[in-house]
Amino acid sequence: FKFLKELPKVELHAHLNGSLNANSLRDLAEKVYGNTSEEFSQLCARFVNFEKDSNLDKCFEKFAFVHELTSTAEGLQYATELVIRDFANDNIQYLELRTTPKANNNYLRRDYLRIVLDTIKKGREKYPNILVKLLPSINRSEPVAVAEETVALAVEFAKTDPDLVVGIDLSGNPTQGKFTDFSEALNLARKEGLKLVIHCAEIDNTSEIKEMLAFGMSRCGHGTYLSSEDIAQMKAADIPIECCLTSNVKSGTVSSFEEHHLKQLMEADAPKVVCTDDSGVFDTTLTNELLLVAETFNLTRDHCIDLTMEAVKHSFASDEERQQMALKVEHYVNSLK
Ligand code: 5GP
Repeated sequence: FKFLKELPKVELHAHLNGSLNANSLRDLAEKVYGNTSEEFSQLCARFVNFEKDSNLDKCFEKFAFVHELTSTAEGLQYATELVIRDFANDNIQYLELRTTPKANNNYLRRDYLRIVLDTIKKGREKYPNILVKLLPSINRSEPVAVAEETVALAVEFAKTDPDLVVGIDLSGNPTQGKFTDFSEALNLARKEGLKLVIHCAEIDNTSEIKEMLAFGMSRCGHGTYLSSEDIAQMKAADIPIECCLTSNVKSGTVSSFEEHHLKQLMEADAPKVVCTDDSGVFDTTLTNELLLVAETFNLTRDHCIDLTMEAVKHSFASDEERQQMALKVEHYVNSLK
């Protein structure tokens, strides 16, 4: 555990609102909303407590609870800071955070992104050991017009902050919305130089999986239902699968850690990265995920270092930033000799 905890890790699949853990939710409620009630603390504990028969739909209900707490500008700002703090405390040296810009009575989608970006920038002083990038998300259960607005904003912000806004994510409940409805907006983002990360094959939907693979992406979120042929195709195109073990098992898309498709990816020597997805909702950390992977599949320290180096390689950081990340890992490993 100590070795993995202190390893300068790389997190490539983390949703902002899903990454607030029970403690951070309590901090947020207390600082921003003055809510110190016992009742709220119990709600937070329940938030990360999973029933045996949990499924993807039930997980999506959990996000609504967090979204209420980040529905003010101050709440969103503090939540972003808490998430960066928690990843920094887990020795994450590089974080790609994704989030769906939202609009309500307190902010517009543009304000939402501005708040998150400004908080990331401010966080550089307070948390100098973690480099954070942003991927605005399209929520596939929202209308296409919202996706178009999100892409337009991402493109605009990527022009002013090219080192910060690096891509677009397609996520949201996979049982809702049709991928092809969003392909035009995603294509525009790609033409404008943004990388695409797509939640793909999260559920068993063969025709959609084919559409997504034909469309292409820079990284694949989950990839649970990819066939061996699909995996071979991903390998040939060097597209990594973002594997989130606790998330998949707790949300019921994978039946056990032992049966996780990471095993198949390792056997096929296909590109893969280990990620948390929603460290708050699923009550985990990247250290825990790597430990889980190591214990489940009998991996050595060297395997865990290789997995971290794969994440460095597939990150959307600049060449120089990736070199720096690799150096940090090397320094750490050498310091143990
Ligand atoms: P947010 O975008 O609000 O910062 O983060 C939470 C949102 O991310 C959820 O409401 C959902 O749209 C998306 N999300 C989080 N985890 C998952 C996941 O495992 N699968 C999919 N498809 N979407 C997710």
